[in-house]
Amino acid sequence: MAKTPITVAHGDGIGPEIMDATLRIIMAAGAELELETIEIGEKMYAKGFTAGIAPEAWESLRRTKVFLKAPITTPQGGGFKSLNVTIRKALGLFANVRPCRSYAPFIATKHPIMDVVIVRENEEDLYAGIEHRQSEEIYQCLKLITRPGCEKIVRYAFEYARLNGRKKVTCFSKDNIMKLTDGLFHKVFDEIAAEYPDIENEHWIIDIGAAKMADTPEAFDVIVMANLYGDILSDVAAQIAGSVGLAGSSNIGAQCSMFEAIHGSAPRRAGQNVANPSGLFLGSILMLNHIGQNAAAEAAHNAWLKTIEDGIHTYDMFREGVSKEKVSTSGFADAVIARLGQTPGTLPVANYAGVKPMTIPQASPTKRQKIETVGVDMFCYLPDGTGQAMADKLAPLNGTGGLELKVISNRGQKIWPDGFGETFCVDQFRCRFQAPDGKSAVGGAAVAALIAKASEIGVDVTQIETQRTFDGANGFSQIQGACHPARRARRMDVWARTCAN
Ligand code: NAD
Repeated sequence: MAKTPITVAHGDGIGPEIMDATLRIIMAAGAELELETIEIGEKMYAKGFTAGIAPEAWESLRRTKVFLKAPITTPQGGGFKSLNVTIRKALGLFANVRPCRSYAPFIATKHPIMDVVIVRENEEDLYAGIEHRQSEEIYQCLKLITRPGCEKIVRYAFEYARLNGRKKVTCFSKDNIMKLTDGLFHKVFDEIAAEYPDIENEHWIIDIGAAKMADTPEAFDVIVMANLYGDILSDVAAQIAGSVGLAGSSNIGAQCSMFEAIHGSAPRRAGQNVANPSGLFLGSILMLNHIGQNAAAEAAHNAWLKTIEDGIHTYDMFREGVSKEKVSTSGFADAVIARLGQTPGTLPVANYAGVKPMTIPQASPTKRQKIETVGVDMFCYLPDGTGQAMADKLAPLNGTGGLELKVISNRGQKIWPDGFGETFCVDQFRCRFQAPDGKSAVGGAAVAALIAKASEIGVDVTQIETQRTFDGANGFSQIQGACHPARRARRMDVWARTCAN
């Protein structure tokens, strides 16, 4: 078989030890790989590469298109970019697949029949890294969710389920609060789920879904979610399955792919030859299947399962009464290599004979819509201000470009008109301007005129968001507010009469 070129990085902390162990096992199992080694992480950050990677390394990644990566240490503090996030986004690795299964009774776990695959969106959400400080008091991080991004990850989850004989795909989101962003994720999930009638589908609000997953993981099969939720919950899933050191993951894009452990560089364990190489090793099994070296994947995986069954465990898996022998990182690799050709007796035998590479889903072409600007949310700085003080300051702007001030909110809560004195305010106010009828198109020139006039009268504008409609539907959230006093009084009256009866 011709050798497949892959790029390898030994990483930081425990990285070099677990990479050596992993490569030794898969090569002994018959993997045909031509290794191109690159340097990433701490040493590269120290040389002044702000994302921890040099230009030559990118050339290797773009040439081989397959990356086996050990964990790296991300420097603390400003001025550095996360290498992991940079690689995922630069190479378009939109799908992060993290299988988390338990190996009871051989590895201690409270969840003996757990077998969950987390499919995490890998490029969007709060990881866009777009953050701004707008005032002394307010810091903002932009959460970006796109329709193409949702379509690709949700379709990937259903295709993965179909290809791997999985029965159900669950979606976790927080669309009861984030109605536009998480709302889109849920909506796209429902649309795509309808195309896969052979696979059961369900949606959970993430908070109760996460609680259910931590308590009863056997109720789940494949779970698809946005980036941050997936990052957090895949660590939870790996840990409750037995150890965070046990889970590997793949990062898949249309052209490139990256395989790694889900854990970090565990610097406190570095250089001691104690770390568990299983997470990276299982990542390498996903890689071998991805590049069509199924026989080597199968042999290596079965030898690993047999080693686990035989109770040969690194410190993190080791439990008195369950495990037989505590071994080092290299000792564990030796034990797996010694079992090549064997299969597990109790755990399911890995069988990759018929595994085919997955067709990577594409997003459907974007349907263009009629877009109109119907107003602007102008965020203004006013230290120690109130809603009324802000409104008074903006009064000279009323009518500019045909726009009028409709409502002011602070941290998303309506405070003018009819706000509550109890609402805590900070030093930036969102001031919503619209046409007098609240819905007519106003156009970009009106917005520009308003901003120019605001500057003239000394209003400090920190941020602008236009309110746009798409084929007539609002593309902006409603301002949350306490009930209008008159409406509240009417309700209280009805309530009082109901109580009297
Ligand atoms: P970590 O996952 O490195 O380690 C947390 C703890 O988990 C360790 O102290 C150790 O007790 C245990 N552990 C992790 N992997 C293990 C293994 N293979 N065998 C045995 N025990 C293991 O998390 P952290 O300490 O929060 O992060 C350390 C560094 O790793 C940070 O700089 C972080 O930014 C980075 N990190 C890198 C990646 C990556 O490269 N993909 C992922 C996560 C964190």
